[in-house]
Amino acid sequence: MELANLQLAKWWQPADNGKLLCTLCPRYCTIGEGQKGFCYIRENIDGKLYSIGYGKPTGFAIDPIEKKPLNHFLPGSNILSFGTAGCNLGCKFCQNWTMSKSKIDDINSVTASPEDVVSLALKHNTPSIAFTYNDPTIFGEYVIDISKIAAEENIKSIMVTAGYIDKEARKDIYKFIDAANVDLKAFSETFYHKLTFSHLNDVLNTLIWLKNETEVWIEITTLLIPGENDSPDKIKQMCEWILENLGENVPLHFTAFHPDFKMRNYQRTPDSTLTAARKIAMQTGINYCYVGNIHNAEGQTTYCPKCGKSLISRDWHSVYSNKIANGKCFSCGEGIAGVF
Ligand code: SF4
Repeated sequence: MELANLQLAKWWQPADNGKLLCTLCPRYCTIGEGQKGFCYIRENIDGKLYSIGYGKPTGFAIDPIEKKPLNHFLPGSNILSFGTAGCNLGCKFCQNWTMSKSKIDDINSVTASPEDVVSLALKHNTPSIAFTYNDPTIFGEYVIDISKIAAEENIKSIMVTAGYIDKEARKDIYKFIDAANVDLKAFSETFYHKLTFSHLNDVLNTLIWLKNETEVWIEITTLLIPGENDSPDKIKQMCEWILENLGENVPLHFTAFHPDFKMRNYQRTPDSTLTAARKIAMQTGINYCYVGNIHNAEGQTTYCPKCGKSLISRDWHSVYSNKIANGKCFSCGEGIAGVF
């Protein structure tokens, strides 16, 4: 592509020996001339850093918002969804590795300006747009431009992310974001280091920042992998941390792993593990906890934390009924956390 058509990146500075330091995520890659960062879509060309994933989605889909998963943000609505090539994490269990491990030239990308993306959402009448499939942190410039235009059209913008982002860059990228589902992949630095090539503390910091410093609606997802992050003790520790730092009303999703990428020798997560994890979360005091990637109507229904009545009944990604009225339980009037 012509240099003039490429998007200059934000969040970088010159480093030694003609290299560039990318400050977008805590990996802080030092990138030599003609090279790309770990995520594959930030490239040093003639001494400047370019965001080569800008305007290059791998395609679009219209998904139920429950697939992100978000259960307390416009439930039952559709969401225009896309990602790009590349990723800033190196998860050995990636469930979407054909995209995240692709370089931009290896994959059939389409060309779409920020205006094109918002027009597509308007055309398909989706009230929101999701930056998803790979980690949208790495195409932050594109996220900002789309979410800004989307906000002018009253379309919501959603990040589906691992939360591995620098503390300065996140202030820019989340400026027009309305909701986020953040992966909390485990409550163990060993797990993060060994299986994702990233660090737990950076993710915890992002979650605390989102909760305390922004208006972004957050939900958390933990993919439970047999033998790696599913011990009851660790799940309890994680739930206690969430309760203490984020509060009882941040929804938590435990989802089933299927053997993939470099972890094909593992078993699929048994339904019983997900159900047990949900029980631990509810006993710890988390108000809204769900199981995912399995059929389990009880584990996917939203209950009133006060009177226990069923409010939103779901199975898989389908919503069958929604009895929340003006953000409150139809029966006892308790306020239900979320955007309804
Ligand atoms: S965003 Fe990409 S290039 Fe920048 S530090 Fe992270 S992995 Fe490296």
